[in-house]
Amino acid sequence: MANDCLFCKIARGDIPAKKLYEDDEVVAFWDIAPQAPRHFLVIPRKHLAGPAAVTAADQSLIGKVLRVGAELAAKEGAASFRMVTNEGAEAGQTVFHFHLHVLGGRAMAWPPG
Ligand code: 5GP
Ligand code: ZN
Repeated sequence: MANDCLFCKIARGDIPAKKLYEDDEVVAFWDIAPQAPRHFLVIPRKHLAGPAAVTAADQSLIGKVLRVGAELAAKEGAASFRMVTNEGAEAGQTVFHFHLHVLGGRAMAWPPG
């Protein structure tokens, strides 16, 4: 847990977010600036700065993040969806706590910008 981390604060409930799901390991909440009709984030409660910080010890946790994201996408009616996780500012990372974007509800272009 990092005291000054926005997503740690959301996970703890110190900052409000519209949550779709939470348990003892992961939290999912709607993105505050959605880039698709359905856009939510899935995070581990454990503070990992991003995908590059994932170690072998975190493998099953991050697998769970992906599974929960896919299950929530289905629950929200998105049979087709995109999952994205950014590493580093150049890739567009702005919050340095691992998060999986799940975007659905519209056609997606490829490659991403
Ligand atoms: P990144 O750019 O790091 O991959 O994604 C960070 C995401 O977090 C962005 O899509 C941004 O809209 C979202 N975000 C930033 N601050 C907040 C917040 O306070 N609440 C919620 N729900 N989403 C946030
Ligand atoms: Zn954090």
